[in-house]
Amino acid sequence: MTETGQFLFFTSCLYIIIYSLIISTVVVALPTKPEGYDLRPGAADAPFKIALFADLHFGEAESTEWGPLQDVNSTRVMSSVLDHETPGKEDCSFQGTQRLELMKNEIELNTLSHSRYGPKGLWPSVSNYVLQVLSSEDPKSAVAFLYFLDSGGGSYPEVISGAQSEWFRQKALEINPDSSVPEIIFWHIPSRVYEKVAPKFGIHKPCVGSLNEEQVAPQEAEMGMMKLLAERKSAKAIFVGHNHGLDWCCPHKELWLCFARHTGYGGYGNWDRGARIVEITQKPFSVKSWIRMEDGNVHSEVVLSP
Ligand SMILES: [Zn+2]
Repeated sequence: MTETGQFLFFTSCLYIIIYSLIISTVVVALPTKPEGYDLRPGAADAPFKIALFADLHFGEAESTEWGPLQDVNSTRVMSSVLDHETPGKEDCSFQGTQRLELMKNEIELNTLSHSRYGPKGLWPSVSNYVLQVLSSEDPKSAVAFLYFLDSGGGSYPEVISGAQSEWFRQKALEINPDSSVPEIIFWHIPSRVYEKVAPKFGIHKPCVGSLNEEQVAPQEAEMGMMKLLAERKSAKAIFVGHNHGLDWCCPHKELWLCFARHTGYGGYGNWDRGARIVEITQKPFSVKSWIRMEDGNVHSEVVLSP
């Protein structure tokens, strides 16, 4: 949790893979790509699956013998998860690079990527953007909106800023004014409210998970985002990484607050590696989640939205 990261995002037709990376410094200039992007599930009623590959720690200790080996191991975890969850196309190799350089490579060179820089005015946070999952039956209507926000870290404040909250508020008002389309939110560092809902001494209902081995390491401050989300009936769940020793989901008001599962072999902790899977079903609408371990086992299934 001492390292920082952000979610990046790319997809094949049915598969989205989200992974977070170590990030140190930042460069300049932000080329623009249009904001927003459509994800189309395949066959009608086919569930739409998202795999969260959290805390990959790619490129860590690259000048040592064991550093690159960690990346090999982390890639193996992702391959194993994808083999079990449906073979998806995969392309996940990175060297240790700086945040904007990573985004540049991801956006410009990875043809499978749906990552975006997001509005420049939210600097120093980058990669704040929204994707819509479209209905198989009616390609003009959205089944869900997926929001990605940069919670900072490295040499940047570990917060979702007031400007980011305001961007979210305006964007949600613009594309989902009556809150009729469910929203799912992703960022890296848990909000402070995660501390409040964290299970004590083991994981008991209504929380669901298998790892509760450390204290939540939250953002530095709460600057309005959680209030906005808690007030939106369409906001269903938030997914974060950062804490390698936590993998639970707990409810907070109408929202679910979830940790991913440490995927990478780099970083602290030796808990078994895995990935959180999120499955969106269109008709009837539901969001389910579970954790797929490197060895193929599945646990911690939870329904996040009926
Ligand atoms: Zn980490």
